[in-house]
Amino acid sequence: MTTTMTAPPPSVTQRYLEEAERYSAHNYHPLPVVLDRGEGVWVWDVEGNRYLDMLASYSAVNQGHRHPEIIAAAREQMDRLTLTSRAFHNDRMGPFLHELCDAAGFDAALPMNTGAEAVETAIKMVRKWGYEVRGVPDGHAEIIVCEDNFHGRTTTIVGFSSEDQYRAGFGPFTPGFRLIPYGDIDALRAAIGPNTVGFLVEPIQGEAGVIVPPDGYLRDAAALCRENGVAFVADEIQTGLGRTGRFMCCDWEDVRPDVLIVGKALGGGVYPVSAAIADSEFMDVFRPGDHGSTFGGNPLGAAVGSASLRVILDEDLSRRSDELGTWFMDRLRAIPSPHVDEVRGRGLMIGVVIRESSGTARPFCEALKERGILAKETHHQVVRFAPPLTVTRTELEDALVEIEAVLR
Ligand SMILES: *Cc1c(COP(=O)(O)O)cnc(C)c1O
Repeated sequence: MTTTMTAPPPSVTQRYLEEAERYSAHNYHPLPVVLDRGEGVWVWDVEGNRYLDMLASYSAVNQGHRHPEIIAAAREQMDRLTLTSRAFHNDRMGPFLHELCDAAGFDAALPMNTGAEAVETAIKMVRKWGYEVRGVPDGHAEIIVCEDNFHGRTTTIVGFSSEDQYRAGFGPFTPGFRLIPYGDIDALRAAIGPNTVGFLVEPIQGEAGVIVPPDGYLRDAAALCRENGVAFVADEIQTGLGRTGRFMCCDWEDVRPDVLIVGKALGGGVYPVSAAIADSEFMDVFRPGDHGSTFGGNPLGAAVGSASLRVILDEDLSRRSDELGTWFMDRLRAIPSPHVDEVRGRGLMIGVVIRESSGTARPFCEALKERGILAKETHHQVVRFAPPLTVTRTELEDALVEIEAVLR
């Protein structure tokens, strides 16, 4: 006897997934959840399910979704003026960069939009500084970078990635970069040559799986750079703006970079805002026409950037991240799990490393999703927990019940 089964009608979620599958380039592998609303640490899917957002858009939403002050600043600015281009001045960029430079402790900032653009800006800055200030022979400037780095997706940036997939099929690449192991001060010492103009580094490697370098590494690397006249360039796009429990992750070791790169949370999850920040010695290599961006420093982005920065400072999100992160990491480590190799991180930038014998991190993320927690695997074995820094201890307590159930 046979029974004929009729397939159930596709769910609302299924319809959105199919549409994206059909019309989107397949350059991502998202979890199968379709979100349509967010507030604070919470997001909702199209079926009305609520989730704790423990990715926070790769730390672009440190202030929480739709923070009222950031939304109000954006609304107000949208009713006045949104884009002027840099052919004219606007009344928002100066105040924003003033606040940003005061907070970070530098002379000047060059505003861009995405993180990758700010990294490109820093690369151009230290190369030109190398030629004009250091006297490196034209075309020979070298920048040292670290294995397993993630600095963005432009052809120049992926050209110095050590990740095959980031590079494969996209060459030829920009020369002038040299890869060394991350966290290895001797490798840095050995790699510095007469034409080395910069050392570009993430204070914690986020995309590589939340890799925390040995204590003292940033301080020693910065000192080594200073002794050799090499610019120390910190990519704090993900680690900065409170994420690791300090305003900048370099603050953990009292390191002041020569060039500081910020992005992500500088736009408060509302609008892309990034910047390369430095003292005049570096910034002054840029003269009119050398570099630019149609949208960089626009009034809407600047208003959003000002509000995003203010929320981080006014709500003391760095301290929250430090206190909650330390506590949360201890609680994660206390979970008796046969699957967890290690829990590592700083502040609320935390990686739970899944044992190879337990498979990849992906099924754990899928199981967390079923229990109302959104996290995304990074580098196959790592579940990253990086919620908005406005999260409360109670919300994390509730999340721990679900996380524990999944990890056990
Ligand atoms: C996200 C990220 C970037 C790239 O930023 P985009 O806005 O995606 O271009 C660069 N560096 C680090 C460390 C990042 O986390």
